[in-house]
Amino acid sequence: MAENTYPCPCFSGKRYTECCELIHKGKTKVLDVEQVVRARYTAFCYGEIGYLIDTLHPRKRRLGDSFSLSKRIKKTRWIGLKIIGSEREDDIVSYVDFVAFRIEQGMIAQQHERSRFSFINDKWFYFDGEELPPIKLERNEPCFCGSGKKFKKCHETLPGKLEAM
Ligand SMILES: [Zn+2]
Ligand SMILES: [Zn+2]
Repeated sequence: MAENTYPCPCFSGKRYTECCELIHKGKTKVLDVEQVVRARYTAFCYGEIGYLIDTLHPRKRRLGDSFSLSKRIKKTRWIGLKIIGSEREDDIVSYVDFVAFRIEQGMIAQQHERSRFSFINDKWFYFDGEELPPIKLERNEPCFCGSGKKFKKCHETLPGKLEAM
């Protein structure tokens, strides 16, 4: 399903084939938990359901995951990702604070989450996430969509739920 688009939706600046595709296909090992968040975000953009389930903690997998994921993927248009930071609690637990941006009924909406990941056998697994209130974006910061423009000159001009929250 994935296309060879440029750049990779995770904003690494690399091509998808040289970036998240290698991760999705299991050709490269990822020890950096933030990279897992980026690759999962790209998987949501490209419908790489296999990778999403593969990086889901075994205890969190449910029958019908693939169906509900594909339904969610089809109805969501992701437009940006901003990783705020990560925090390692101990050998097996890390948290990543990020915001994923999507278009919903013509408006920008945020999914701000603090995700918990478990490290098992040299691999990070998404365990669960705590939903956080939307963040306030600085007008002069680079826009989350990866355009390279300032937020005020880019997506701020689109009606959004950003200001209100
Ligand atoms: Zn990537
Ligand atoms: Zn933008």
